[in-house]
Amino acid sequence: MSHSFIDRSSNYFTQNYENEEPQKKIDPIAQLKELNNTTVREWGLFNNHPAQMFAKEEDLSAEAKAKEEEETIQGKGLQINNSPVLEDEADIMGTKAAHGENASVYGVGNGIQKQDADDVDKENGKTVTTDYETYKSKTFKASDNAKLYSLTESDGKISVDKIYEKEKNYAVESEIIPKDLKVSILETDNCYNAKTKSYKEVAKIKVDDSANSEWNGRVAWTTRTNVSEQPDNDGFYTITVSDANVRADAVEVNGNQKTIPQDTEITISEYRENNGKYYLKVADKETTEEYGWIKSDGFMNKLANVSFGVTNAVYISEEENHSTINKNNTKTFEENGYKYESIKEKEDFIRIPKGTKVKVISTDDSYREVEQTDGTNIGWTSVTNLASKADEDGFFEVTNDDARIRRKEKNYKEKTSTLSVGTFVIEKETSSETYPAGLYTKVALTEKNDDKYTEKADSDVWILTDNLTRKWADVKGKHATWEDGKYTGQIDLVNVMGDGEEMEYMKADTNDKENDMYDKYIKMANAAESDGVIIGLVDGFRTYPEQKVLYDAYKANKKGYYPANPPGKSDHQRGIAVDLSNKGNSSLNKWLMKNSYKFGFVRTYSGYSEGHHWEYRPSKVKNPTSIKKDNKEFTRYYFATFTPEKEWKDSDTNKWDATYYEE
Ligand SMILES: [Zn+2]
Repeated sequence: MSHSFIDRSSNYFTQNYENEEPQKKIDPIAQLKELNNTTVREWGLFNNHPAQMFAKEEDLSAEAKAKEEEETIQGKGLQINNSPVLEDEADIMGTKAAHGENASVYGVGNGIQKQDADDVDKENGKTVTTDYETYKSKTFKASDNAKLYSLTESDGKISVDKIYEKEKNYAVESEIIPKDLKVSILETDNCYNAKTKSYKEVAKIKVDDSANSEWNGRVAWTTRTNVSEQPDNDGFYTITVSDANVRADAVEVNGNQKTIPQDTEITISEYRENNGKYYLKVADKETTEEYGWIKSDGFMNKLANVSFGVTNAVYISEEENHSTINKNNTKTFEENGYKYESIKEKEDFIRIPKGTKVKVISTDDSYREVEQTDGTNIGWTSVTNLASKADEDGFFEVTNDDARIRRKEKNYKEKTSTLSVGTFVIEKETSSETYPAGLYTKVALTEKNDDKYTEKADSDVWILTDNLTRKWADVKGKHATWEDGKYTGQIDLVNVMGDGEEMEYMKADTNDKENDMYDKYIKMANAAESDGVIIGLVDGFRTYPEQKVLYDAYKANKKGYYPANPPGKSDHQRGIAVDLSNKGNSSLNKWLMKNSYKFGFVRTYSGYSEGHHWEYRPSKVKNPTSIKKDNKEFTRYYFATFTPEKEWKDSDTNKWDATYYEE
């Protein structure tokens, strides 16, 4: 029997986990309430931030929204977005949908591609598309809620219609069949009543009654109960009621909404978002027959390993000298003469030995550029280090034992104005007389006229080169990565269905499959699944505003919010962090501790409150080792970057922080 140390302390472990409140999930609508009219509005340029879409949706009252939805679903072929407010939203959604299409239409994961002129982006931008088609064919099982819809798209708008079972209705007509007529029953069928959603048995009768010349020989449908239950000795039935209506021939009507039988194995080939709901295009796994679309709650195991497509990064310009300010309150400078900086070497200043004779070759204020007697240039030093008078050969003697050699540098004086993050600038020149060269960059500001950015006249200003990021990019867009409070670039994201109903995002890199976080994550989730545990994604990539919401809420001591880093400083904004559903799930947690290293994932924060936080850091993972304890062989798994070398002691209650042992 296998004995593992974790078993002994697992109570401690899980108790600590389960007593905690679950990590607060990001709710875009709540976010919006926080950010509305402030940050969210800044996304307007690209009209593609999800929070903005929710913003529009939020404008509607809940009631109006419910009505909206009811109408659009009931009214066959009606546009889903038929209020002016939603109309705008539909445009945005349409844009997004079109983006989604790009991924499958272009279908190649090779970075930057030009968009067609009449394509989505009105800013003449470019998109990065990535092919994640290969992930789409995973098998799922239909839940008991797998109702089918049809989605049709025209002019960028999506119409959602229910798909119905087709039923036959035999409508009641006004003509009455006389009572006591002798009839034969030719066939029976079920008549569907769309109003009551019920069935009634109907019979096709042939009148065989010579006593009634008008009816004799006629064929008609009527309700089965209008006819006697059993035939008489001659095999004839009788009309038993006086109000037996004739029914018309069958017409096809909509029955109940079509569903996929529970537990049917399905594959997902596409997804669309509409009014905040996700629709998935599904087919039967066995027959490959397409069913139609289901809502995202129509399949079981809303695993983290579902991907539907890739959203696209937007670049306004990729020209060499087009750059974006990457830091808020970026200082601006102007040239201001020169300064003379003392030079250090190995922690000490470089000096001219006292008594050295030097020749002055140029003068600037209180500094002198000097050379040795043989003509070798030494550099600059302060005039106070030299004898006040030259000797007869024209050389000055160094009289100070702290005569530092100084370097002449261009001086930059801080101006009062600052630039905000996301500002587009045009690089003009870099500083040559600084150390290092290029420390400062002279940029021109831009202004937007008729949707075009042009250089703003007389706007040149110097800034630290470090505050620039190449390309004009939507640095505050949903693809922006941030590290240490600074914008660091744009990444591709892939949609991943989160542990809740919300859509999460994860970094994707098809150009480097070996180090592709998403690829590794999917492999990990699949491996876990085949070991019988399900990994759920609680939180993936976060945008700047998302992090702001979490941080502000945490600072305000809001209930349910965990400690969060200030915006720009979360590892979730770097695209390497995921919060997984292992909290309070000891079987998943144990699985992760033993297996996460195989996929490059490690825990980076100690303590149980951060037990859900994992990062993709392949360079930090460590293979398991063996250790002997009480003559037993144990495998030691390193699942965290903190205190991995910590010596294990039997009495150490916190030993599961970084390593896990199993015999
Ligand atoms: Zn986290």
